[in-house]
Amino acid sequence: MRVVVIGAGVVGLATAYYLARDGHAVTIVDRNDGVALETSFANGAQLSYSYVAPLAGPGVLPKVPPWLLRRDSPLRFYPALDLAQWRWLLGFVAACNRETSERTTRRLLALASDSRRRMHAFVRDEAISFDHARNGKLVVYSDPAGFDSARRLLDYQRSLGSEQVALDRAACLAREPSLAVAESTLGRRLVGGIDTPSEEVGDCYRFCVGLERRLVQPDLGVRMLLGTLTRSLVVRGGRVTHADTAAGELDADAFVVAAGVESMMLCRDVGVRLPLYPLKGYSLTLPLQGPAPTMSITDFKRKVVYAPLADGAGHRLRVAGMADIAGWSRAPDPVRLRQLLAEARGAFPRATDYAMPLERFEPWCGLRPATPRGSPLLGATSIKNLYVNVGQGALGWTLALASGGFVADVMAGRPTAVPGEGLTL
Ligand SMILES: Cc1cc2nc3c(=O)[nH]c(=O)nc-3n(C[C@H](O)[C@H](O)[C@H](O)COP(=O)(O)OP(=O)(O)OC[C@H]3O[C@@H](n4cnc5c(N)ncnc54)[C@H](O)[C@@H]3O)c2cc1C
Repeated sequence: MRVVVIGAGVVGLATAYYLARDGHAVTIVDRNDGVALETSFANGAQLSYSYVAPLAGPGVLPKVPPWLLRRDSPLRFYPALDLAQWRWLLGFVAACNRETSERTTRRLLALASDSRRRMHAFVRDEAISFDHARNGKLVVYSDPAGFDSARRLLDYQRSLGSEQVALDRAACLAREPSLAVAESTLGRRLVGGIDTPSEEVGDCYRFCVGLERRLVQPDLGVRMLLGTLTRSLVVRGGRVTHADTAAGELDADAFVVAAGVESMMLCRDVGVRLPLYPLKGYSLTLPLQGPAPTMSITDFKRKVVYAPLADGAGHRLRVAGMADIAGWSRAPDPVRLRQLLAEARGAFPRATDYAMPLERFEPWCGLRPATPRGSPLLGATSIKNLYVNVGQGALGWTLALASGGFVADVMAGRPTAVPGEGLTL
């Protein structure tokens, strides 16, 4: 089959990989001149296979008002005259209950576990360097109540296959000595943590660039149509006949929309409603000069993640966080970037020279393509030859391979590796 994949972020590239391996003639279209230049560019780098709980949880709503009142809160809301925003928020509120959150967590864990299996096969089969490491993750808590409820969740997570242990304060500092640096505010306030030794990290952008190189090799033969905006999909007789692109009409037997959060517009125009909204997040990449974490750290209270990346050019620490419900603008807010830098400075005060100008820390922001429940939407749509791979939200790097494999399975008419219930339109 001739298949057009719209979007060359990590999700579109992973989809193209599995489709090309199935023998399809694949074309990827992206409006940018290179791959992964939007949300897949400088994300938190965490392959968070065991830590997938969605933002919509039973304890979240009471926390929202205090968050909204603080200028440096991890979550910020800018109300807009945008029906999509309010629809998304209503869906989010409806999903903030134990039953929905546990069901979503179960689905995401199954998808994440399949992604891990596929990632290990990928690393074994394909010679691509992307700072991939299995160095574990420690989620640290600053209040006893939060730590207690995380401990109570351990048995539940274990029953779903996650290998995690609870560590008290002393054990956390021994596990990650950079938290024991005297001036570390994070080290001072932590009361305990959950350690997941099997968690992994990797640089998503480097992965995408390596994957692009692999995709165009003759055995996969993927055609890259970069610098090409897709203006719309054209439907006739219940099928997409072609994509109307800046390079002209692109026809194919099947189309996969994997265009991140903007998939919503492309699909809406042909009558397929996707419940997506952007959650804007920020990252910095610190060049390391002093004590810094050797494993991933998540500051649960401040919702900031720290991931060490070690490439040939030296060691770096990716710092990521914030979730701003702030519309569709991709412009970074310098205030949020400075807040993120202040978080990093508090947590790992000797990791780098914080007196350097902000630009030296590679400031970046991206739009997480989020669904209200926090689970992606994969596979068939009401249009016969139109498929979607969208809505991975805060977990797109983690879930990309499983999501790509899922869509390829659906298109091949094979049973999917993970049950589709709750993951399809
Ligand atoms: C601050 C932050 C931290 C994060 N940390 C993590 C993490 O640690 N672990 C994790 O698993 N995930 C993380 N994520 C989430 C992850 O980065 C995203 O879920 C993922 O990158 C989404 O990939 P995508 O391919 O769907 O979208 P994108 O990477 O945005 O790709 C979509 C592509 O579609 C193209 N496109 C859109 N519209 C059109 C059009 N009309 N025509 C042509 N091309 C089009 C765009 O140019 C873009 O290249 C984080 C996100 C943020 C913002």
